[in-house]
Amino acid sequence: MEADNGISIESKSPFELRVNLAKDLPETTVKEALASGDMGFLHSFTTGSYLDGPGARVVAWTTGCGWRCQYCHNPDTWTLRNGFPISVGRATEELRKYRQGLKKMSGGLTISGGDPLMQDRFVVKLLAAAHAMGVHTCIETNGYFGERLSDAELATIDLVMLGIKTWDDERHIRLTGRSVEKTLAFARRLAALKKPMWVRFVLVPGLTDDPANVDAVADICAQLGPALQRVEVLRFHQMGSPKWAKLGLEYPLAGTEAPTPELAERVRGQFRARGLTVY
Ligand code: SF4
Repeated sequence: MEADNGISIESKSPFELRVNLAKDLPETTVKEALASGDMGFLHSFTTGSYLDGPGARVVAWTTGCGWRCQYCHNPDTWTLRNGFPISVGRATEELRKYRQGLKKMSGGLTISGGDPLMQDRFVVKLLAAAHAMGVHTCIETNGYFGERLSDAELATIDLVMLGIKTWDDERHIRLTGRSVEKTLAFARRLAALKKPMWVRFVLVPGLTDDPANVDAVADICAQLGPALQRVEVLRFHQMGSPKWAKLGLEYPLAGTEAPTPELAERVRGQFRARGLTVY
């Protein structure tokens, strides 16, 4: 299936490089889209993922992210205009094709990115449409713009996957370009609302792996109470590095190795020591 400008809506994987798909759209149209949410910008839809939430997922990969994580494996999603424009109606129609299959496979829709909440109005509308058709909904976000969602809008989200890499603001700014405060505030708000949540901790040797950092993040997770259903320790990998090269960006982690299984197990153990469910 194609978007309005002939671009394929689906891709086999988010690792497919996509750029400038909305480059010719007038600025006023982009601003109106962001304000109304009637239209959004997507890198792609992928189907059949078992890595982006419970069961089999259709994943809508949004474009636009204000962070610049050193380990980002989808830097082409940083820029809103790298995505193709799509109306909420069209995106909903696409999702509807998979509705029965998703239910049978205990899956649903995940909106990832980029950071989906850069396009909060579009995301809210798509989540509401998915919820109305009985599809389980999930967003994967860095949480920076969590305050843009009202409690009523959060009620259309069945699960939030939230990235927390460190508690230390100075380190967080070095790692992502932004402060961690808003992410932690969003985590605490979700916990107070008892919103099901998975925390994703990206394990990067030399950046997030030292025992004191992991202990501190694990302590934060333990304070989130029963809303936190699991912690996922995501091992850094080099699969995003070709995108950095193709975009002409200098990849700061070009020489960084993936964590060893032993290191990953030590880190998982630190989370488990707080009674947390860890994957
Ligand atoms: S928040 Fe996600 S999309 Fe944004 S820079 Fe970080 S890893 Fe990349």
